[in-house]
Amino acid sequence: MIGVTWLAGMIALNYTANILAFVIKYCRGGGVMSKYLLKCMDCGAEFFTEGEKDFYESKGLTMPKRCKPCRDKRRRLFEQIQVEKELEGLLSTLPFKRIKMAEVTLPNPDTTLFIIGNGFDLMHGISSSYYNFRDTIGKNNILRFTLESYIRADDIWGDFENNLAYLDREMMLGTVDDRLGDFGVLDEDDDDFSAADFFAAQETAVSPVFILTQDLPQRFRGWIDGLKANGCSKPLKDILNHNSRYINFNYTEFLEINYEIPQENILYIHGDRRNRNVELVLGHGHDTDEVFEEWYHANKNRKEFKPRLRGRKGRYYNNDNPVYLGYFLNDDTNGNWKSQMRYDAINNTVRMIEEYYENSAKKTNDVLVTNQQYFKSLEGIKDIVVIGHSLSVVDYPYFKEIIKYHRNSNGIKWQISWHSPDDIRRITTFLSVMKIPNKNVAIFRT
Ligand SMILES: [Zn+2]
Repeated sequence: MIGVTWLAGMIALNYTANILAFVIKYCRGGGVMSKYLLKCMDCGAEFFTEGEKDFYESKGLTMPKRCKPCRDKRRRLFEQIQVEKELEGLLSTLPFKRIKMAEVTLPNPDTTLFIIGNGFDLMHGISSSYYNFRDTIGKNNILRFTLESYIRADDIWGDFENNLAYLDREMMLGTVDDRLGDFGVLDEDDDDFSAADFFAAQETAVSPVFILTQDLPQRFRGWIDGLKANGCSKPLKDILNHNSRYINFNYTEFLEINYEIPQENILYIHGDRRNRNVELVLGHGHDTDEVFEEWYHANKNRKEFKPRLRGRKGRYYNNDNPVYLGYFLNDDTNGNWKSQMRYDAINNTVRMIEEYYENSAKKTNDVLVTNQQYFKSLEGIKDIVVIGHSLSVVDYPYFKEIIKYHRNSNGIKWQISWHSPDDIRRITTFLSVMKIPNKNVAIFRT
């Protein structure tokens, strides 16, 4: 009995101590204090914990007046105001007309051509930005890793197709020696030489190229196939016309679904996802020779690509850098290759890299040739309405083709949608490159 009483006593004591601790913690100066120290001046919510207060004090920061959600809201509003200010400045200098979306007119739908870009899908709530593509790939995916590490761009996803033109040659070749080492590849003359090791090493070195040329198109197709329309969304119902013609740069059929535009009036210029036999055109429109020349000239005089290098002990030696050997060495037979195997590995890798460049170039020319009759048939178009198209340099050849075949290209009236300050800058450049008279242009915001 004594034991039980003792135990009950201990529990009671413990319980009392807990209550006491609670009282001491929360009831200072008589009143019950909240867990939070401040009240938001906008929404009245209580916020700011002891911990946050300590943090602010330790950093010498002034205490906030608003809760986190209200501060975020104010920041977004501020950013929006900045963008609007920038826009006002930009818009006030434009030499062409600005109209409202409701003011877009088609004097004759039969002689109107619509040019539809990715912004069209986005404005219908379709998650078709390349950031969405990135997110569907997932964080820890080898394709994403490869894209983000081997493509030379600060933000590869912002201008994805364009950036595919910048596979990092140095990084790719830099891996050759590592791989030969990893696989313990010996020289051919060595007794333990294994051709399998050699090929495994070489394959690993060029694996980013394989991933970009094989995994990327597959993943991309899967993502495009998965894009879903919201058939009820029709913000352009007063503009689009069934009798007009459409060049659709998207791979998706939402013009048909949302607006019942007849399929025969639409040219899916980069492929129609419903057609399983056709490869979707993905990539950049750069001239790969030009991109190469640019890279070559920017790099050829770098110290690490000189024929002779100075070692740690001050002695000179013939450059053995794989990038130097693969790209800058004049006489192939006279390089510091170290072994026949390394020679093969470096040269094969160079070949794979350059093949990648060839294959990643959007087949703009092929598209133009295939659709020559179509472009000729646009000779009588009087109005062009561009919706959600970024008018990037890579797509200039298509617009040039339209203008080239036109009976009176100076007479075409252009109505072009824009969404951001960047769009306006691109429109301005586009119009001046295409020599389109300002008086023929009106822009509208979507
Ligand atoms: Zn608040």
